[in-house]
Amino acid sequence: MECPVCGGRCILPAEELIEGLEERYSPCPDCRETVLPKTAPPAFRPQPPCTCGRRPLDEIVADIWTIMAETGDLAPDEPLMNAGVPLIHPGCVLKAPPHIGPDGLVLLSKKVTKASADRIINEVAEVRGVVRDSGGVPGITDVGGTWQTHELLAGCDVRANIFETENKPVVTYLQQSVFHIEFPRAFDPKIINTSMQTLMHGPEVFFDACCGAGRLTLAAAQYGIPQVVMNDAWFGAAYWAAVNLEVNKTTLGLTNVEYLFSYDECRKTPVRSDPVKIAGAGGPAATFAVWQGDFRLLGPYLPAGHLLTVLDLFGKEEHERMEREEEALRQRIGGIVFIP
Ligand SMILES: [Zn+2]
Ligand SMILES: [Zn+2]
Repeated sequence: MECPVCGGRCILPAEELIEGLEERYSPCPDCRETVLPKTAPPAFRPQPPCTCGRRPLDEIVADIWTIMAETGDLAPDEPLMNAGVPLIHPGCVLKAPPHIGPDGLVLLSKKVTKASADRIINEVAEVRGVVRDSGGVPGITDVGGTWQTHELLAGCDVRANIFETENKPVVTYLQQSVFHIEFPRAFDPKIINTSMQTLMHGPEVFFDACCGAGRLTLAAAQYGIPQVVMNDAWFGAAYWAAVNLEVNKTTLGLTNVEYLFSYDECRKTPVRSDPVKIAGAGGPAATFAVWQGDFRLLGPYLPAGHLLTVLDLFGKEEHERMEREEEALRQRIGGIVFIP
């Protein structure tokens, strides 16, 4: 499918992306094992990739640092880690420092400028996109609240994460400048909890109230739920949730995915309160709908049937607020509501 950000071939079906994952980041017999101190400026000069086409992550970050220092984004005595955060693509659970090939990471940096971003994209083959970190977390804190994004400076900042589940692994693509950092961990309590609740309750309707890029739905839906509704008030989540249905279509047994809006159309209304359906998908055994809106207002659009709702709000540490929201949603839409 065409990438909604750059028009290129950034987005692959889940099964293609997952293939060969075991070896993707491990060194070949000829690979260098460069590990540089993160708290000092790098004393390293660029070296060509190994015959396998990849380089150790720290060598790539050292090249990025050097360009940023030459452009004046970094002082000559700044440590390597000040270059920014390299987010590998696809992200997965790593057992050792990764070896990265072309287009294998997105750089997120507080200090990078447009001039060095252009140079990084042209000169460092492993970097697929450069994003300036605005300092906040992209997205919204609540419907009606303020929102913010990072800024894509060069290249394409679409990347994927691969999450293990009890069944098949799932893939979520996202645009890094409009999405918080989410990285797969060996133990993901939210996926485990969501899977358990789904098994325990056997819902006819599953409602993912704040779905983000969709990983909890993608885990739950593998247990066979006839009707699935995903929702997020933030365009950068809702649209990518729809993309991720298409990406994981084989795993979910979907035969068609229909987008009712383009990404650029969604971007014009970054936050929605009144729910708008933005995509639908279906197969022989299940129907999916993706909405953008305030989850509290989705009740009238939920299909009838035994309902299980997952409420994965930001700010889980505010226990009282979470419990209030959970109870209020239960009153509004009925069924079982849980915080993963
Ligand atoms: Zn792209
Ligand atoms: Zn190698």
